[in-house]
Amino acid sequence: MFDVIIIGGGLAGLSSAIHLSKYGFKVLLIEKNSYPKHKVCGEYISNEVLPYLEFLGIDVFQLGAQKINKFELSTPKNKLLKSDLSLGGFGISRYTLDNALYEKVRSCHVKTVKDSVMDVQFLNDGFSVATKNNNTFKSKIVIGAYGKRSALDVSLQRKFIKEKSPFLAVKTHVKGDFPNDLVALHNFKGGYCGVSKVENDTINLCYITDFEAFKAYKDIDAFQEQVVFKNTYLKSIFKNAAPVFEKPLTISQVSFSNKRPIENHIIMCGDTAGMIHPLCGNGMSMAIRSAQMASQLIIEYLQGKIPSRYTLEKAYQKSWNNAFGTRLKVGHVVAKLFSKNQLAEVLLTVLNRFPALLPKIIKQTHGKPMVIK
Ligand SMILES: Cc1cc2nc3c(=O)[nH]c(=O)nc-3n(C[C@H](O)[C@H](O)[C@H](O)COP(=O)(O)OP(=O)(O)OC[C@H]3O[C@@H](n4cnc5c(N)ncnc54)[C@H](O)[C@@H]3O)c2cc1C
Repeated sequence: MFDVIIIGGGLAGLSSAIHLSKYGFKVLLIEKNSYPKHKVCGEYISNEVLPYLEFLGIDVFQLGAQKINKFELSTPKNKLLKSDLSLGGFGISRYTLDNALYEKVRSCHVKTVKDSVMDVQFLNDGFSVATKNNNTFKSKIVIGAYGKRSALDVSLQRKFIKEKSPFLAVKTHVKGDFPNDLVALHNFKGGYCGVSKVENDTINLCYITDFEAFKAYKDIDAFQEQVVFKNTYLKSIFKNAAPVFEKPLTISQVSFSNKRPIENHIIMCGDTAGMIHPLCGNGMSMAIRSAQMASQLIIEYLQGKIPSRYTLEKAYQKSWNNAFGTRLKVGHVVAKLFSKNQLAEVLLTVLNRFPALLPKIIKQTHGKPMVIK
């Protein structure tokens, strides 16, 4: 019997495993993949998570993270806007960051199992978690931190899984010339591409596009040549860089539909609870922040300071909505505006004329630096 079983060892799952183990609870982390592993992600993280990563025992700058405090935005018609990032962030690959958190998890005596969770049952105030390798584990609490989409969402009959997931994303690492302190968001017809440096002087290129825009082309190369490179900033970056990966990584069926932070008494964290549009560059800090939020409440519940599961669930739902409700809504609106090419051009003209507006929008999609209690 575990105190807590965590399903999924991405940023949310690994962070909560370390946090809970610091309080002496018996934690099991089940992750279907091994570490280290590259993931499709823009790899720009807001500085808001730095105090919490320090609490977890992770120094990203020792791992080679690049400090980033400048932002550039271009439209499909190559209009460019530049701005400073007041809070700023850093660039680090998921290969390095997730692995560093995993190593920390292992040093904290959390039990880790490489397996895929297939089913979760809640019965008699406890959980039974069944895996693909026919293991069954029991716990008082389950955290769902299995990312944006999993077969588990089908078995839990989550509503969003039946809705359309029309986006696909492509990511690669390259070597080339790009400022260390800059994150750029270059738009093209039907999508946008994030560009920023990570450790080892490597540039991360990661774009997301509507499947409808993509499917008319034979492959990634054709799509890039005929659509992505209409943005001349992207053309110059891609054409003047040397690939590090043999071939790009891709994911499909990316959805930004609303989800619920509690499902069948499982406390959902990170993308499993809700996903912000990547153009906001805030999904990773939301995952890490939700892990802190869930861990703090679970600790109080297991210590008897929160009197019932019902109160725990209500408290988590409320904190989650307070922290992320506005960010998600603003993220949806901004993404919608940029998906309409003409509107994107108008928006950039407005932002150029009123430069104070952009930092305000960025602030709405980000949080304040995390507080350690
Ligand atoms: C194209 C794109 C670009 C992005 N760019 C940025 C960016 O620049 N900045 C930013 O802050 N955010 C960005 N994001 C968002 C960010 O990647 C996510 O918000 C973040 O990875 C969420 O972390 P997580 O821990 O919730 O999930 P994940 O990191 O996805 O981890 C989930 C884990 O669960 C495991 N898993 C899944 N199912 C099971 C199962 N059944 N059993 C066991 N294990 C399971 C998976 O293998 C995985 O390791 C981007 C997202 C996309 C799609």
